[in-house]
Amino acid sequence: MSQLVVPTLREDPREAEVVSHKLLLRAGFIRRLAAGIYTYLPLGFRVLNNVSNVVRQEMDKAGAQEVFMPSLLPAELWKETGRWDMYGKELFRIKDRHERDFCLGPTHEEVITDLVRNAIRSYRNLPVNLYQIQTKFRDEIRPRFGLMRGREFMMKDAYSFHTSQEDLEKEYQNMYKTYCSIFERLGLKYRVVEADSGLIGGGFSQEFMVLADTGEEELFVCPKCDYAASRESAGVGEFRVADSQSTGTSKNALKEVHTSGTKTIEEVAAFLKTSPDKTIKTLIYETETGPVVALVRGDHALNEAKLKRVLGVQDLRLASEKVIEKVTKAPLGFSGPVGLKGIKIVADNCVPLIENGITGANKKDHHIMDVSYGRDYKADLIGDIRFALCSDVCPKCKKGKFDVLRGIEVGHIFKLGTKYSEKMKCVYLDENNQEKTMIMGCYGIGIGRTAQAAVEQSFDKDGIVWPMTLAPYKVAIIPVNSSIPEQMEVAEKIYSQGRGAGVAILLDDRELRAGVKLKDIDLIGIPIKVIIGKALKDGKVEIKLRKNGEVKLVPEDRAMDEIKALLA
Ligand code: ATP
Ligand code: MG
Repeated sequence: MSQLVVPTLREDPREAEVVSHKLLLRAGFIRRLAAGIYTYLPLGFRVLNNVSNVVRQEMDKAGAQEVFMPSLLPAELWKETGRWDMYGKELFRIKDRHERDFCLGPTHEEVITDLVRNAIRSYRNLPVNLYQIQTKFRDEIRPRFGLMRGREFMMKDAYSFHTSQEDLEKEYQNMYKTYCSIFERLGLKYRVVEADSGLIGGGFSQEFMVLADTGEEELFVCPKCDYAASRESAGVGEFRVADSQSTGTSKNALKEVHTSGTKTIEEVAAFLKTSPDKTIKTLIYETETGPVVALVRGDHALNEAKLKRVLGVQDLRLASEKVIEKVTKAPLGFSGPVGLKGIKIVADNCVPLIENGITGANKKDHHIMDVSYGRDYKADLIGDIRFALCSDVCPKCKKGKFDVLRGIEVGHIFKLGTKYSEKMKCVYLDENNQEKTMIMGCYGIGIGRTAQAAVEQSFDKDGIVWPMTLAPYKVAIIPVNSSIPEQMEVAEKIYSQGRGAGVAILLDDRELRAGVKLKDIDLIGIPIKVIIGKALKDGKVEIKLRKNGEVKLVPEDRAMDEIKALLA
C-alpha cells in the first residue's frame, strides 16, 4: 500500500453523478482526462483485466477464437455498407496526410466481414466465431457516469458466420448461455430483455441488463409471463384496430376553432376543455424515401425505433420547418392529418380509436375538433409506433401489466442475418459449388461498463463491496500498528505466503492510524481483511469479511489456510 498509486479522495468529486462513478474516483481506480475519456489506475486496470479474463475464458470455452483488429479504419469499408453516412456524428472521423478519410472504430462489423470474405471460401470452414477485446471510440452526445458512457471504452465484440439460419440460431443460443455464465461468474444480478437493434441493425437482438435503480435503461417486465423488453422495444398488447374493429364514431361535423396562444398539447387540450388523450399528435419526419406523417395520441410518446421498423427505413429525423410548411402549408405546431395529400401517413394503433378527436388544422393558430378516423382522414399504415407505458398490457400473454425496472445495458447479442454480408459480398461456396451469402451474428460486452455496473450494484456507506471475481485484490493484510515489529513480522509472513500461493494480496504497510488504513481498504472494497492487532499476544489474527462484517479469530499460522478456504 505504501507504494501503490491509489490517490483516494475524502470528498465526493463534483464531476460524478452516480454512486459508482463517485466511488471509482474516490477510491483511486480511475481519473478523467477529458469528457468520456479515462485513465485506469493500477486498481482500475486490475478490475478491467478481471472482467476481460472471465470474458476471454468463457468465450474460448464456447469455441470462439480471439483476434485483434485495428482501431484506425479506412472509410472505404464503411462506405460499402452505407454506414459512413448513416453513423452520423457518433463516428470519430479523421483524415490522413494524403487527405484520405478514416474513422476510429466504434464497432467492427465492416472490418470483420472484410476479413472473412477474403479468408474463408468454403462451407467446410464455416461456422466461425471471432472475437476481440479492444478499445472502441464513439463520440457520444452525452458522455457521462464515468466508464458507463465513455467516448473511448473497452468492448468485447464477437462476430459469427454461418451457412444457415439454423446454424446461426445454434450459435446465438451458445452465446446467450456464455453471457449468462460470464455475468454469473462476475457476481452480477441481471435480466435479459428483447431489444432494438439500433445502428448495428439486422433482425432480432437481446440485451443483458444489470439491475440497478440508477440504471439509464428502463426494462418492461411482464409479471404474468417471461416477456421482458427494453423501453425502446417493449411492445403494446392492447388497442389493436383489428382486435376492436372500431374506428372513430363521432357524429358531429368537423369544427375549426381558433386556438391562438396555445402551443403544447396540454395547452390546446385545456383550452378546448378536454384531455390530451383526445388529441392527435402529428409529427412530420424526413426519411431516405421522402417525408412521412406520423400520428400518436396526444398523451403518448412516439418511438422512433418502432417507427423506423414499421416504415422499413434506416434514416429518420424530424422534418425541418421548411419541409413542414411545404407538406402542411402551415407553420410548425398546427399540423394535422385531415386534408393532407400526396404524403404517407402512419398512425399508431391507438389513433383510429380516438373519438371526437382534436388535431391541428394545417392553418396558423387553428385546430379542428370532432375528427373521426375513416371519415375525415386515413392512414396508409397502422402499427405500434409509441413507447409502452406501465399501464399497457404485455404483447405476449396479453394478461400482465408491465412492471418497470431499471438497469444498465452491459451486453447485447444480435442475429444480424445478411445485413453486412450481402452489401459486402461476403460469400462462400456450398456443397454444390454454388455461391451463397454468409449469415451473421454479433455479440458485444462493455468491459468497463460491466466493471462499473458491479459497483452500482454492490456498495455501502463505507465504499465499494467488490464481488470476489472482480476485486482488484482479494485480501488486505493490515497490521494495526506498523511500528510494532511482531505485527509487521506476521504481516510480512502471511503476505509472502499469499504471494507464493498466487493470491492477489495487498499489505497495508503504511505508518498510519489503524482507523485510516481500514477506511481506505474498505473504500477500495477488498473482500477479505486480515487484521493483526492485540490478539497477536495469544498468537491470533482477525479475519474480517467486507460484505457482511463477519469476523473470525484464527491462529496466525492458520490464516493462509483460512484465506484459501474463503477464496475457494
Ligand atoms: P447504448 O444504447 O447504451 O448506447 P449500444 O446499444 O450503443 O449501447 P452496442 O453497440 O450494443 O451498445 O455495444 C455493445 C456494448 O458496449 C453495450 O452493451 C455496452 O455494454 C457497451 N457500450 C456501448 N456504448 C458504450 C459507451 N459509450 N461506453 C461504455 N460502454 C459502452
Ligand atoms: Mg450507443
